[in-house]
Amino acid sequence: MTTLDPDCPLCNEPGGVVLWHGTHLRVIEVQDADYPGYTRVIWNSHIAEMTSLSRHGRELVMEVVWHVEEAQRAVLQPDKVNVAALGNMVPHLHWHIIPRFRGDRHFPDAVWAPPRVPPGQEPPQWHTRLAHTNNQMQRYRNRLVEILTAMPRN
Ligand SMILES: [Zn+2]
Repeated sequence: MTTLDPDCPLCNEPGGVVLWHGTHLRVIEVQDADYPGYTRVIWNSHIAEMTSLSRHGRELVMEVVWHVEEAQRAVLQPDKVNVAALGNMVPHLHWHIIPRFRGDRHFPDAVWAPPRVPPGQEPPQWHTRLAHTNNQMQRYRNRLVEILTAMPRN
C-alpha cells in the first residue's frame, strides 16, 4: 500500500530520471554533471528506516542496491563505489549508490562535503575521465534495467 502525501516531493515526483519502477521500489538516475552514474534506490511509500521494513523488504532493498553497484563496477569501472542511506529530508528510505573516481570533485571525501576542486579548475585528465564515463552511461542503464527486470520478485 502506498501512502500519497500531497506535500511530499518524492510522492509527487520520481526524484530523478526513472530507470526502473517496481511495486515497492524505484531506481532513479540522479542528474549531476560531476557524477555520471549516480543512482538512487527509493522506497515508494513512507518508510524512513530500514528496520521499519519487513525482512522481505530489507532483503529486496539491498538486493537492488547491490545490483546497482555491480552494474556500476562492471560498466563504469569506478575506483570506489560509495553506498549511503541518509534520508534526513524525506520519509522515503533511499540509498545513494555513487561511482567515485580518483580526482573527482570531492575525492576522497563524500560528495556532500565541500568540493576540493572548484568548478573550472579541474585538471585536463578529469575531463577525459568524465567524457569516458558519460560514453558508458547508456550501456550502464541498459545493463541495470536488464538485471532489475529479470529479478524474480519485486
Ligand atoms: Zn512521500
